[in-house]
Amino acid sequence: MSIFSGFKDLLGQINRLDGSIYLKGKDFADVYAKNIALEEEIAARTKELEQANQTILTLNSVWDMMNSSQPLSSMLNKIVNILFNDMNYNYASILKIENENTKDAYFHIKAASQNKNVSKIYSFLGKLSDAYYFPYVENSIIAKSINERKIYSTPDIKGILSMFFPSLKEEQIKDIMTSINSKTCIIVPLHNGKDNFGCVVVASDREGLTDTETNFLSLFANQIELAITVAGLFEEVKKQAITDPLTGLYNRRYFEENIVKEAERSLRLKQPFSLISMDLDFLKKINDTFGHQYGDIAIKTISNVLKKEARSIDIPARIGGEEFNLLLPGVDSNGAAIAAERIRKSIENQVLETIGGITASIGVATFLEHSDRIDELTELADQAMYKAKLEGRNRVKIAEPQTDVNWQKTAIETFMDILAKKRIPVKDNIAKNIYQKLKDINNKEQDSTEILYSIVDIISQTYNQMYQPGTTKSKIILAVMLAKRLDFSKEEINKLKLAILLYDIGNIMIPEEIFNKKGPLTDEEKQIVRQHPVIAAREILKPISKIQDIIPIIESHHENWDGQGYPGKKSGIDIPVMSQIVLIVDSFYAMMQDRPYRHAYNIEDIISIIKQESGKRWNENLVEDFIEIIKKEVV
Ligand code: GH3
Ligand code: MG
Repeated sequence: MSIFSGFKDLLGQINRLDGSIYLKGKDFADVYAKNIALEEEIAARTKELEQANQTILTLNSVWDMMNSSQPLSSMLNKIVNILFNDMNYNYASILKIENENTKDAYFHIKAASQNKNVSKIYSFLGKLSDAYYFPYVENSIIAKSINERKIYSTPDIKGILSMFFPSLKEEQIKDIMTSINSKTCIIVPLHNGKDNFGCVVVASDREGLTDTETNFLSLFANQIELAITVAGLFEEVKKQAITDPLTGLYNRRYFEENIVKEAERSLRLKQPFSLISMDLDFLKKINDTFGHQYGDIAIKTISNVLKKEARSIDIPARIGGEEFNLLLPGVDSNGAAIAAERIRKSIENQVLETIGGITASIGVATFLEHSDRIDELTELADQAMYKAKLEGRNRVKIAEPQTDVNWQKTAIETFMDILAKKRIPVKDNIAKNIYQKLKDINNKEQDSTEILYSIVDIISQTYNQMYQPGTTKSKIILAVMLAKRLDFSKEEINKLKLAILLYDIGNIMIPEEIFNKKGPLTDEEKQIVRQHPVIAAREILKPISKIQDIIPIIESHHENWDGQGYPGKKSGIDIPVMSQIVLIVDSFYAMMQDRPYRHAYNIEDIISIIKQESGKRWNENLVEDFIEIIKKEVV
């Protein structure tokens, strides 16, 4: 039905009333009053209708839809606000059926008017999500309206509330009823082509539903259906697009896809790339002083500078409203700093009509130099950009060099403490040698990491003749890969590195005969071997305050997922994830090496042994990630 046929219908009602105008006396007064009232209502409704028709699908709103990251929800929110604010309904929401025709069907409130009364319902429900998702009740008036594609109204708001929100208590429902203060609930079905979409639910303080209102709501529903279709189309088209419509720069999606490719390439070729992150200064002020269109001009100006300054292989992108990124393949941080400064100057030199000048704040971070993770790199570039803002804007800041000083420093101090206080039985000459190395790195700031690895190598060889130098370094590399896959933070990864350096130190307490014994251990010997993690954690490390949070990791590094490990027989999530990482990395290297009682396994055998133990020694997901890493990096 078009808006015009709806309008004709309204006119028809006026004409019918016109015919009765020549009545006399009380009847006349009555009908006259009714006539006037209806005429007023119709005039008002017609205006509303025209207004609604204009507000929902104007070119402007289509444009908004195109630029919105979620066109459908932005559209639906607009619609409920029209119903609530302009049409004076006490409540308006749009429900979508999900999983229709299955036993898991449910309703999802895609948009709802917000006010104090409505918030009350949500607060009574406890969990906010309960208020947005509720079960599909087959015999409900809502299901009936949708299936019969017919507008229904009911005065029984209480019944609807208790049917869909069974957890509400009697007195809460009463409270809500008083708040909503409505006499009628109206359900208007919505479809999307042949399929049911859901419905609009509104509450009004009028009794019942007039034909005029029914007409109006069904017209309104048509508009919503059109919006749903259009938004769906936009979503499709947007998925295909790679450029931002306002500036012609690449969009966020294209940028994100390409930074992933660039990172892969960079890791493969061991070649850096840089990320420039840029934000327009004081855009809000420009918008407020001169108007939004001038803000847009500022954005376009910056975009043009980026396009002009970028090389053909660079990727300039608009990431958000006033946020830009430039990806510079093959460029290190020195090169990127020069490029960023050139861009900054060029922006500063632009002369804009009315606005005058503009400036931007810029952050730079370089892959392989500052980080080898995309999320961290973006974060670092952003941090640098915010630093530029803080220092007064219109400047370039390079990300802080990401030295691992902290964990190495902690490790150095830990080893110094262990050796100085003779917490482990190392021969004097070896202890002296190690101590000197530690002092050297402390004084000269040489490459502390390599020296730390070599120290662990030396200590390990004192109690284990079979120990192969270099294993600690490999273990750390593998453990860090796994931790990154599990999205561990930098601090957590540093803890893990310390744990790998230190977890086996207690082995030094195990008598040499047991360690190098050919053939299986007796129960008593096994008991001794099993105590080593406890010894390591408690005896040696506990007095050192800096590494207190490493101790629980080490203490649990022989616990198994199924509770069959030692010493605490912990299971599942009671075991720290990092302990599970230490265990899997340790087991992997143990199997890679010859032992007095067996030869080393080959990789295929190791993978199949680890798989067999999935869910027993380790969490299944951890095993999956680990094997993927092994297949990619080791095989
Ligand atoms: P700062 O120097 O700290 O970045 O200040 P600012 O005012 O630029 O930053 P803030 O983040 O406070 O405000 C950004 C403003 O940019 C808010 C938003 O309305 C406006 N904006 C975002 N996208 C667009 C757009 O596409 N066009 C226009 N004209 N303005 C936009
Ligand atoms: Mg800004």
